[in-house]
Amino acid sequence: MEWTLAPFTVYLGVKGKIDGLSHHNYFLGDNFKEYADKIFKSSVSPEKAYYYVNVSSKSDPDCAPEGCENVFILCPVPDLRFKKSWEDTEALTEYIIDDLGKRIGYDIKNNIMTKVVLNPTQWEQNLNLYKGSGLDLAHGLKQVGAFRPANKDEEFKNLYYVGASTTPGTGLPIVVISSRLVTERILKDA
Ligand SMILES: Cc1cc2nc3c(=O)[nH]c(=O)nc-3n(C[C@H](O)[C@H](O)[C@H](O)COP(=O)(O)OP(=O)(O)OC[C@H]3O[C@@H](n4cnc5c(N)ncnc54)[C@H](O)[C@@H]3O)c2cc1C
Repeated sequence: MEWTLAPFTVYLGVKGKIDGLSHHNYFLGDNFKEYADKIFKSSVSPEKAYYYVNVSSKSDPDCAPEGCENVFILCPVPDLRFKKSWEDTEALTEYIIDDLGKRIGYDIKNNIMTKVVLNPTQWEQNLNLYKGSGLDLAHGLKQVGAFRPANKDEEFKNLYYVGASTTPGTGLPIVVISSRLVTERILKDA
C-alpha cells in the first residue's frame, strides 16, 4: 500500500502582529522536484525544510488574543517506516522557527508565548495514524475507486468502514462523503 506524507507540526502563540505573514503561506526552496522525490523516503529530517504556515488570526481576530497571532506550521516529513527516531524534533523545530523569522523579518523566537510540537511518532501515538501518515492511504491509480479498500467488510456482513483509508478517500470533505455513503449503504442493507 502507498501512504501519504507524515506531518511535523508546530503550533505557536506569538506576541505581536506579524506583517510578513498572510493567512496562507508557503516557504519553499528552488529545488522542488529533487526535494519532493527525496523527502518522503528519507531516513533523516529534511535539510532546509519546505513548510506551510497558516495564521488564522489574520482572517479571524478571535483566534488569538489582541495584538497576537496564532501560527500553525506544517512541514511534510518522512513517515515512521523510513525515519523511526525523532530525537531531532527540537533541532528541526528550531531550524524552522529561525528560518521563518529570517524570511519574514520578524523575531518569532523571542516572542513565543506558547509552543506545541507534534512529530510523526506523536501523531501515531495520539491519533493512531498508521506510521504517522497524515492523510492515510494515498490516492495513486492503484488505490482509487474500486482499488481502494471498500466501506463494507468482505467477510462480516454487518461490518462497515468509514474514514480516509476507505472510499472515496482522504481529506475532510471526502471523509464526510464517506460517512454519508456508508450510512446510505447500511440503510439499504437493513
Ligand atoms: C496535520 C494535518 C493536516 C491536515 N490538513 C488537512 C486539510 O487542510 N484539509 C483536509 O481536507 N484534510 C486535511 N488533513 C486530513 C484529514 O484530517 C483526514 O483525512 C481526516 O481527519 C480523516 O478522518 P478520519 O475520520 O478517517 O480519521 P481521524 O480524523 O483521524 O479520526 C479517527 C478518530 O478515531 C480515533 N481512534 C483511532 N484509533 C482508535 C481506537 N483504537 N479506539 C478509539 N478511537 C480511536 C482517533 O483518536 C480519532 O479521533 C490533515 C491531516 C493532518 C494530520
